[in-house]
Amino acid sequence: MLAYRKRYGGCYKNYLELFKQNRNLLFVDLKIIQQKEFRKLVQHAIDKSLFYRKLYANIQNVTDLNNIQSLPIVNKEMFRKNINQVYTVGKKNGILSKTGGTTGKSLEVLFTFENMQERFAMLDDFRLRFGYKLGRKTAWFSGKNLLTIKDVKKNRFWKIDHWYNVRYYSTFHIKEAYLHYYIENLIKFEPEYLVGFPSSILEIAKFGLKNKYAFPENTVKAIFPTAETVTSEMRNCIELFFKSKMYDQYASSEGAPFILECTKGNLHLELQSGVFEVLDDNNAPCKKGRLVVTSFTTYGTPLIRYDIGDSIELSDANCTCGNNNPLVKKILGRIDDYVYSPEAGKINLGNISNTLKDTKGIVIFQVHQNALDTLDIEIIIDEQLFTKEIEKIFIKNWRDRVGIKMNINLNYVKVIDIEKSGKYRMVKNNIKHLI
Ligand SMILES: [Zn+2]
Repeated sequence: MLAYRKRYGGCYKNYLELFKQNRNLLFVDLKIIQQKEFRKLVQHAIDKSLFYRKLYANIQNVTDLNNIQSLPIVNKEMFRKNINQVYTVGKKNGILSKTGGTTGKSLEVLFTFENMQERFAMLDDFRLRFGYKLGRKTAWFSGKNLLTIKDVKKNRFWKIDHWYNVRYYSTFHIKEAYLHYYIENLIKFEPEYLVGFPSSILEIAKFGLKNKYAFPENTVKAIFPTAETVTSEMRNCIELFFKSKMYDQYASSEGAPFILECTKGNLHLELQSGVFEVLDDNNAPCKKGRLVVTSFTTYGTPLIRYDIGDSIELSDANCTCGNNNPLVKKILGRIDDYVYSPEAGKINLGNISNTLKDTKGIVIFQVHQNALDTLDIEIIIDEQLFTKEIEKIFIKNWRDRVGIKMNINLNYVKVIDIEKSGKYRMVKNNIKHLI
């Protein structure tokens, strides 16, 4: 209940109303809002964050959006080293976001309550365009470990929230032998909306198509994926089985500004939520390159010219949906990957990155799977923060996901190789042909 109050209390209603009103703003008006919000955020960062005050000490006109290119680009590594100087609020007055998204690097950011409410309002306004609101019949595929041993024994892979009409399905038990329980329960439940990890929804859809289950027509109104990149193959398969459209969104756990898909199937950069820069290797603006973001809902841990580790490709096209925010052709984000446990099935990137939950001092890790029953995890630690206790928590987080039978080897290393493309991969699965 506390979580609901944090998200939907305070300023939530005002923001929701504002975003509803602003849906069809002209491009020039969106730019005016963006300039104003940029000025406010940068001024706040200088006033309240020692990290930014030092960083901008010798720069003129820092609060002017036209001058954004003179501000240094920051990244996860810089944040990790200086995070206590970046924060503008204490842990008691903020909401801690503990995971590092799907990048495998751990980072703890603090949100103010108001920013959290603003973010939920913006996301809810996006979903509201497809008729969704709290209380509608929803199947949720979340990253939380929901089930007890008794639930699993009884083949009950979900928890029911009667109050909000939500059925939470476990994404920890997506295994061939269990999938028919999921499907039969979903068919009986007849959800209007599906929300959550697309990789889990995909496994259910694939199983359903293969085994000729017929999902009832005109039941699901929209599918909202979270946390992972959706490929067109994933989308086709899911839409085919559930007989509904999927509407994607981009937002990371560290609080990136939003990219939202509209009713026409186009991705819009929401300028009210931040500044999006697409830069080449020399930090010059380009059409297709690294995404560097400034996010207006990060007053607790300001993201200003933050290199988020994803790439996007911009589009010149206009959209006829009424939203005048510019379009993205493609989010060339995180690679779709997983590890496989004979006991628990496929474990997706979202759940893998959540193994960092409640840990400290894990700089980065990479999982190698070269055998069905073994995972080799390379891990770089910060020796000042990492302890034996944290190792235990990390292993337990893995056990929650892969089960008790797999061999898990931790190898402490100094370097983890990046790909030829320059991208770091969290998972290297070499046994996909065996699954
Ligand atoms: Zn549109």
